[in-house]
Amino acid sequence: CGIVGYTGKRSAMPVLLSGLKKLEYRGYDSAGVAVNENNKILVSKRDGKVQGLIEQIKTDENVDELEAAHSGIAHTRWATHGPPTSINAHPHPGPESKVILVHNGIIENHNSLRQKLESQGNVFVSETDSEVLAHLVESCYRGNLLEAVTEALQQVEGTYGITCMAKDEPGKLVVARRGSPIVLGLGEDETIVASDASAIIRWTRQAIYLDDNDIAEINGAQVDIRSLTSGSVTRTPSEIDWSP
Ligand code: GLU
Repeated sequence: CGIVGYTGKRSAMPVLLSGLKKLEYRGYDSAGVAVNENNKILVSKRDGKVQGLIEQIKTDENVDELEAAHSGIAHTRWATHGPPTSINAHPHPGPESKVILVHNGIIENHNSLRQKLESQGNVFVSETDSEVLAHLVESCYRGNLLEAVTEALQQVEGTYGITCMAKDEPGKLVVARRGSPIVLGLGEDETIVASDASAIIRWTRQAIYLDDNDIAEINGAQVDIRSLTSGSVTRTPSEIDWSP
């Protein structure tokens, strides 16, 4: 339903949580965040409102690390596959938590992908189609997240807006879209990813709206966009047109 991502110099958490708050009006049933702090992925997620997630983070034993990280991803979920529980809430990691992602949309061939991965020994903890995508990306991961997501998406049917992180590539986000919007907010030394510009305008008005089949690697203010179908592409930034 709603996606926010951050990579840059400031603490990611306030950007992620204020972004989720801005996306609340779209409706959702659960929410979660993941950050990368010194090659360690920390996750907090739960059913219910963003305010409940904010309270949960405050009392987390890792609150200091959660708040110190400079990159992270966040999600508000509108359940399509599996009930709105904390386990089904995003972000979803791969089996060894080498990668983690948030996903909007529906993976149509999630059953056949799940069966294939289970035959390779993967064990799923949630009922979501999104966890299948996380496992698929991790099965393609050999140290380069952009390559892994590119390879994984060749096997996917359905719609997605995704934002992914890898444990061993701190500061890096890989985002992609097909049928579900993704906007990149361009700051001076940071980038804010969102499914809706409302989560970005507090920080910057310069934005790139991804096209279907675009995939981007982002690290701080560095943005490298390609197309899954036609290779290298140029997307020109535009001013977010926003009247509240
Ligand atoms: N299909 C995914 C799920 O049920 C994503 C739903 C959404 O777009 O929030 O978890």
